[in-house]
Amino acid sequence: MSERYHAPTVTTAYDRPPMQDPDLNDPRVKEAMAHVKSLLGFIGDDPEREGLLETPKRVVKAMHEHFQGYSMRPEDVLSKTFTEIEGYDQMVLLSDIDVHSHCEHHMVPFIGKAHVAYIPDGKVVGLSKLAKLVEIYSKRLQVQEKLTAQIANALEEHLKPRGVAVVVQARHFCMCYRGVHQPSAWTTTSKLFGEFLESAATRAEFLKLIELPRPDR
Ligand SMILES: [Zn+2]
Repeated sequence: MSERYHAPTVTTAYDRPPMQDPDLNDPRVKEAMAHVKSLLGFIGDDPEREGLLETPKRVVKAMHEHFQGYSMRPEDVLSKTFTEIEGYDQMVLLSDIDVHSHCEHHMVPFIGKAHVAYIPDGKVVGLSKLAKLVEIYSKRLQVQEKLTAQIANALEEHLKPRGVAVVVQARHFCMCYRGVHQPSAWTTTSKLFGEFLESAATRAEFLKLIELPRPDR
């Protein structure tokens, strides 16, 4: 088995520069392109026809982007915190964060929204960091249950807030056009810590807030 491929771009700031393309001369990138070419033959097409000649390169580039979460770490986005918050001790909620991930069983997309909340204990993180945290874990091969737990666990571990709540709602393409063929089915997962778990009132407030109408919907 070949050595595990490591994406060349390891930039962790949220406002990172545009991602670099994979190095097409890297032997592992070449090997991946050869595998894509082999798959094109496997599905019954001709990898040598004009329209498919560049496809292995495009697929590898797309994969490089889809799975950039492997080169990012949650501690890099959650280590910078702010304490000048005038004693703010109520819920912070970032809702409707886009989720674009790939199921680890079929390597096809699942897409939806994440709602991430916490109750600070003296310190907060930049709001964009919550979205970044979702991206770090969703740009990997995933199952939705694990994705939800990883987002919540990272907040719990690095921020040590009084409570964490994460809800993810997604449609899984592997259930849409294959298998059970349920294109309308939504999967909802949640992971709660601290006051969200202990207090029914806090949990109810969170659920009410994520169901509130938004100005754009
Ligand atoms: Zn699947």
